[in-house]
Amino acid sequence: MRKALTLSSWGLFVAGSGLAVAHLFVDADLGETFADVAAIQVLLVCVASAVLLRTTVAIWLSAMTVAGLAVAQQTIGTSYPDNIDWSVAAQTCSLALQILLILCLGLVVRERLGSDTRDVFGDSLIVGLGVWLVVWVTLLQPSLNNSSETVLVNGLRGSSIALSIIVLFLLAILLFSDVMNTAAVAFICVAFIFRFSADVMRSYNARGGRTFELKILDAVYIAFLFMISAAILHPSILSIGKANPRRQLPPLLTRLVTTTISLVVPVLVLAITDSKDATDRLVRTISVVVLAISVTTRVIQSVRANAVAQTTLLHNALMDALTGLPNRTLMLQHITTALELSGVNKTQPTVLFIDIDRFKNINDSLGHSAGDDVLTAVAQRLANAVPSHALVGRISGDEFVVLDGLTSTTTQSVLLAEKVLDAFREPLAVRPGDMFVSASVGVATAPANIPMTAEDLMRNADTAMYRAKDAGRNCIALFDESMLERITQRLLVETALYRALERKELRLVHQPIVDVELGLVIGFEALMRWDRTEGGTVPPAEFIPIAEETGTIVPIGSWAILDALTHLRHWIDSGSCGLHATMSVNVSPRQLHDPNFVSVVKEALMRSGIPPHQLWLEMTESVMVTEPEQALTALNRLVALGVRIAIDDFGTGYSSLSLLQRFPIQRIKIDRAFVHDIVNNRDTQSLVRTIIAMGQALNLELVAEGVETPEQLRILGEMNCTKAQGFLISHPVPVEAVPSTVVALEDLSEWNRITQK
Ligand code: C2E
Ligand code: MG
Ligand code: MG
Repeated sequence: MRKALTLSSWGLFVAGSGLAVAHLFVDADLGETFADVAAIQVLLVCVASAVLLRTTVAIWLSAMTVAGLAVAQQTIGTSYPDNIDWSVAAQTCSLALQILLILCLGLVVRERLGSDTRDVFGDSLIVGLGVWLVVWVTLLQPSLNNSSETVLVNGLRGSSIALSIIVLFLLAILLFSDVMNTAAVAFICVAFIFRFSADVMRSYNARGGRTFELKILDAVYIAFLFMISAAILHPSILSIGKANPRRQLPPLLTRLVTTTISLVVPVLVLAITDSKDATDRLVRTISVVVLAISVTTRVIQSVRANAVAQTTLLHNALMDALTGLPNRTLMLQHITTALELSGVNKTQPTVLFIDIDRFKNINDSLGHSAGDDVLTAVAQRLANAVPSHALVGRISGDEFVVLDGLTSTTTQSVLLAEKVLDAFREPLAVRPGDMFVSASVGVATAPANIPMTAEDLMRNADTAMYRAKDAGRNCIALFDESMLERITQRLLVETALYRALERKELRLVHQPIVDVELGLVIGFEALMRWDRTEGGTVPPAEFIPIAEETGTIVPIGSWAILDALTHLRHWIDSGSCGLHATMSVNVSPRQLHDPNFVSVVKEALMRSGIPPHQLWLEMTESVMVTEPEQALTALNRLVALGVRIAIDDFGTGYSSLSLLQRFPIQRIKIDRAFVHDIVNNRDTQSLVRTIIAMGQALNLELVAEGVETPEQLRILGEMNCTKAQGFLISHPVPVEAVPSTVVALEDLSEWNRITQK
């Protein structure tokens, strides 16, 4: 339907243009028929538009009246062929039409004007005034002198032409407003331009002597009527009064060109013509003054708008929108200035780097708007806590920076940091209610007489802040050079670790787990080693935490599971170990939270052909304590596969009995710290006894870790913990050494030597 109407509308546009051109070449009778057709079709289209498009009454009534008046005007005009300079009736008709047009356009324009009302209005006024001046000099003023007309007719026509300027002015607004221009608007503009041309031609004719033939006037009239039809039949007429959708780019260039032309042309016309009489001079002077005022106002307004825009841009570029504090760029500028002045003032500027502890938790649990509230409240607190000459800025997210350019000793810097930390002792009043937050503060003081950039000072404070976080949060850390070395070292490890897997620098060593009573190797624990190309083997305690933090543990851990199971397969197949020997692989929390983890395990089992119950996954208690629900889901899926779960380093974490019961665990590994003390410390003995009793009650297997002496092994055996691993039995050994290690361990005399039986 819409498509059909759009097509018909364009059809009318083409037909109208065709008829108008044809009219110039056909004889008078046929020409009159053309004019009648134009008049009748506009009435029909108005009805069609009302029925099919459900155009509002206002729209089609205006269209009908405009068209109707045009028809009347033309009829009166042509029925006085000898006196084409028109009668009073024709002029009244023209004037009424003009007023009606202005009303209609005015309504549309009022609705359509977007945000930049004043700009559009100003530009349109300049265009309107420019056209007015040209029209006055070239048309109106000469026609006033035409003595063949009565004063009334002259006055009516003058007013009508003058009002045309308002029509043009409104059309200019219509085109200049930052609303997308639709086909309907384009048709209306074309229609009115035709009408305006007709008026101009009539005025020329009125100057005396007919310059434009009636035929041409008729052709323009036909075109006008068809354009009106095309506009009102086009579906986009419905949105003519709506301010949306906005244009992506307001047509600035078109506007600039149009206003410039509207300014230059009248000035030229005024320059090359002389004023005819006193009235002419008065009109010219007033018009030029008004035009000059409009242009000046517009220029002032433009300059002002530009200045405002520039200030806003600058402000946005340097200030944080949420807290209104200086941002990173501005803070760096301030620090640079402070550093420059420090030599003169003999000061050592201090920079504090403040990070809110566990801010992510606030955001995640209470929502981002609560997070924003906290940030705003923190900004306020900080501003109140620091001396008035110090500056507070927000660097990013939950990171703030304080700059005190007047400190001159480290003690003063630490005092300032303590003040900041104290500011968090009281709860923050935020929308969800009072809330306690803490912060970690890194302190960096610019050294005296050593040049330093703002970036360096800020980075030092940042580094110190990380130390404060490591030290348990809610505290202060003072920067020293060694921190930087550690960070650099760590960064190197991070990057190297990233490549370690593909460079095949990682390998597994295996530590046998034995059943002391039976004297049998019941399984192995796979432990990772990293042989760096630069030399040296890195122990897992050094690189596993980094791998966990960076996420590299996920691919590395997957590789470890498959590699360990492949080894076990090989040993079983070659008879190097028992058919039921197990493989224990360490798993970090990060791996467990990886959605693909279960499929990784499944695939490793499948590829190695090891039955699931021969794989032990070892994880520490922390898995059960942080995000227990997520861990539980993953563990349940693993247990459903048949894989078994062991709790590593048991006794060092904070797991509770209830957690032990809830989690699908089959083995507890007693941490080597207990084993170490078991010989001499009675408390440890009773603790281990309790752990063993609890394990037995929960039907869990017990393995002692880190057994180093026969005495430890004997006491553990007495306590009924018969499975053990440790340097006493065997150090972790490379893959190739496993078969010989097993043979040695299962040799009775060797075993007796170990256990000193
Ligand atoms: P863990 O799982 O508790 O491994 C036992 C650690 O104790 C191993 O250290 C082992 O060499 C050491 N050990 C064994 N017997 C004795 C003993 O009698 N005395 C002493 N003092 N130590 C003994 P390692 O190989 O340095 O591994 C340290 C930790 O790194 C492991 O502790 C484990 O948590 C982690 N880790 C090792 N490999 C992996 C891995 O592939 N993935 C993950 N996620 N973590 C791993
Ligand atoms: Mg382990
Ligand atoms: Mg352990």
